[in-house]
Amino acid sequence: MKSHAKVVVIGGGVVGCSVLFHLARHGWTDVVLLERDELTSGSTWHAAGGMHTINGDPNVAKLQKYTISLYKEIEELSGQATGVHLTGGVLLAATEARLDWLRGVVSKGRYLGIDLEVISAKEAAELMPLLDPKQFVGAVRNKEDGHLDPSGVTHAYAKAARKLGAEVERFTKVEDIVRRSDGLWRVITNKGDVVAEHVVNAGGLWAREVGRMVGLELPVLAMEHMYLITEDMPEVADWNKKTGTEIIHAVDFDGELYLRQERGGMLMGTYEKANKVWSEFQTPWNFGHELLEPDIDRIAPSLEVGFRHFPAFQKTGIKQIINGPFTFAPDGNPLVGPVRGLPGFWVACGVMAGFSQGGGVGLALSNWMIEGDPGADIWAMDVARYGDWATMAYTNAKVRENYSRRFSIRFPNEELPAGRPLKTTPVYDVLSAKGAQWGVAYGLEVPLWYAPEGVKDEFSWRRSSDFDHVAKEVAAVRNGVGLSEISSFAKYKVAGEGAKAWLDRILACKLPKPGRMTLAPMLKEDGKLIGDFTLANIGDGEWFIAGSGVAEQYHMRWFEAHLPKGGSVRIEALGQKLAGLAIAGPKAREVLAKATRADVSNAAFPFMAVARMDIGMAPCLVGRVSYTGDLGYEIWVAPEYQRAAYRALMAAGEEFDIGLFGSRALNALRLEKNYGSWAREYRPIYGPAEAGLDRFVAYGKEADFIGKEAALAERKQGGKLRLRGFIVEADDADVIGDEAIWHDGVVRGWVTSGGYAHHSKKSVAMGYVPKEIADEPDGFEIEILGKRHTARIQPAPLFDANFERMRA
Ligand SMILES: Cc1cc2nc3c(=O)[nH]c(=O)nc-3n(C[C@H](O)[C@H](O)[C@H](O)COP(=O)(O)OP(=O)(O)OC[C@H]3O[C@@H](n4cnc5c(N)ncnc54)[C@H](O)[C@@H]3O)c2cc1C
Repeated sequence: MKSHAKVVVIGGGVVGCSVLFHLARHGWTDVVLLERDELTSGSTWHAAGGMHTINGDPNVAKLQKYTISLYKEIEELSGQATGVHLTGGVLLAATEARLDWLRGVVSKGRYLGIDLEVISAKEAAELMPLLDPKQFVGAVRNKEDGHLDPSGVTHAYAKAARKLGAEVERFTKVEDIVRRSDGLWRVITNKGDVVAEHVVNAGGLWAREVGRMVGLELPVLAMEHMYLITEDMPEVADWNKKTGTEIIHAVDFDGELYLRQERGGMLMGTYEKANKVWSEFQTPWNFGHELLEPDIDRIAPSLEVGFRHFPAFQKTGIKQIINGPFTFAPDGNPLVGPVRGLPGFWVACGVMAGFSQGGGVGLALSNWMIEGDPGADIWAMDVARYGDWATMAYTNAKVRENYSRRFSIRFPNEELPAGRPLKTTPVYDVLSAKGAQWGVAYGLEVPLWYAPEGVKDEFSWRRSSDFDHVAKEVAAVRNGVGLSEISSFAKYKVAGEGAKAWLDRILACKLPKPGRMTLAPMLKEDGKLIGDFTLANIGDGEWFIAGSGVAEQYHMRWFEAHLPKGGSVRIEALGQKLAGLAIAGPKAREVLAKATRADVSNAAFPFMAVARMDIGMAPCLVGRVSYTGDLGYEIWVAPEYQRAAYRALMAAGEEFDIGLFGSRALNALRLEKNYGSWAREYRPIYGPAEAGLDRFVAYGKEADFIGKEAALAERKQGGKLRLRGFIVEADDADVIGDEAIWHDGVVRGWVTSGGYAHHSKKSVAMGYVPKEIADEPDGFEIEILGKRHTARIQPAPLFDANFERMRA
């Protein structure tokens, strides 16, 4: 075994082998994979081998499509058969709500280039002869669905990687990992040490244990999973004979089942409600190629539905039940990327669908390691989407919930209860008493809307029970004044003698003068966005940044990786060390003026001013800015003072009928201002000109900010896309996000977010379309629940197009 390597990949399951292959294909051949046993010795060997392109996140779906397209290449390169059968499949709906969901999937598929089609239950039965069409209301046909040989695929990746110069060491167990003083990693194995620049944790079932070697507690947990294989079935033989084809795949969401042909019989797997965690705290190192004890009682309710939906199963014997463990992250998506605070340590774990996602994970990670960027928008898989709040107990609760809901519908207005409440702010109980309905962002409870006694969310794809109440919250803001909790923002403090120069390099905006704020896009070297913030110059060399709460770890990883050596700049993510409140609306200044002795007149405290002031008795930092697009203030306060600040503002607001508003009202308010938000409109695949943020980029500033050259080139060429606001002639359902945008009968773009703008009384959407058609007056349609609705570009904001309210 070599003693030095550029990269050590730990784990020879499908994921580790894919990472190894992609690194070698990308030109890094001084790479070695260490496997404690034979390849495939984790969950890989007993997988059912199913693959498909469907994923809730369109960017992950794209990587799944890539994975499936890769198998031919690795088979040819390695000479190893992968056993791929691209049978196609049907996704079955037994209820109208499920069919609505499937229509959304089809709409997403259109702009991703995934060939999906809504068909009737009868048509589904013509494709998949075992199903009883009376049990279903419709289906979607997916041509890119199939199955493969898990061991063949894993060995094909490994052999192809070896051919390209990579090495594989089997029966080599990594026992510890130590960071040396020169920054290299010493990987200690039962066969000696390997010193490496980079280490990839692809430890699958043991990813947690490998993480612990470097002091990481990764949010992954293994669950038991069962599938059964039947005896040969005459119906299968007849179909094979009659058509010369295999029985296609089927996913029966309402039965929580997936099915495919296995030799002369069928394979049926379940994601049962009564699920079971495996190795809760510690995966045993001596676990190898054994299976777990099947527990038919646990899956009996799902099988009962399955046998009803697919009657041929009632007459067939079960040959074998496989029960094996595999790992999940709390939201079911992989954990991929560099780990904050551990330079050169990467993860590629929590991959619950290794045969759909393994290729995409390998591609993204190898791009990231070699080029410094994953080359695609992989936010949904980024390990940085979790912070230290994702503890072992939280992960346990969430993974069990996610497993039991694997095939359940999640409605756009549905909040999942497991692992909550976890993080709360001091006003949590106060707002709960006012009827707050809570959602969650980065582990923190966030008020969504305020419900009267006895009213709650009715889950739906359409406008629902909150509609009129959110409308009232919006009206409170637009007609008077509203107060909202904004603690879920990420907050950062930047200080030190090098702070100004560093901010000038890392942010693309012009830096504000003391007492002022600005909007601050942050770019990557390729000129695309990696953040959008509000930057405040507090004075005395102190800076305050507010940004997307869910991206706190993501942005800290970027900030820290770009800090100068020597400690001249200090940055701290304040998390919940700082809570937030906001007031907005034409009466907001009068409320603030009553609650503070500071001069907050327009002359003394104009738009984009920032100052410390007391609100009631609470010391606060106040910025005159509002995401509502109205006259408004964001107020930052230490948590021990948040209740006092809240009481002072509510008391001052009483005479103005101050109302509480939640994040749904805020969404309605920002949409009619065409304001985008991080992770929706602003993502690392869009440039500032495309996203409409170039007016905040100081192209001419002296500082050579990151991404300047590429952003200038984008501005010159104009980029490819444009973010646009649309008014949609919707009926009782608004866009959610990821719907297809049609132009002249062809899909040309996608929706990033939208909803109902209550004040303007319009259904609105934001989304990207090609630059060439971005100023076309008409011809647009947006697909909602399978129906195309006329849409019109709204170039100027619907509300306060001249920014008079904000600056008043
Ligand atoms: C019953 C069942 C059915 C499934 N069906 C499907 C399906 O149809 N489709 C699908 O896509 N997915 C399916 N899966 C999931 C699939 O198996 C996983 O997504 C996939 O195997 C994950 O691969 P991995 O490489 O991340 O992890 P693993 O397969 O667990 O591999 C990790 C490897 O790392 C090695 N390792 C760990 N620690 C060390 C160390 N310290 N030193 C050296 N080596 C180490 C282990 O020995 C192991 O070989 C199924 C899983 C189960 C259990």
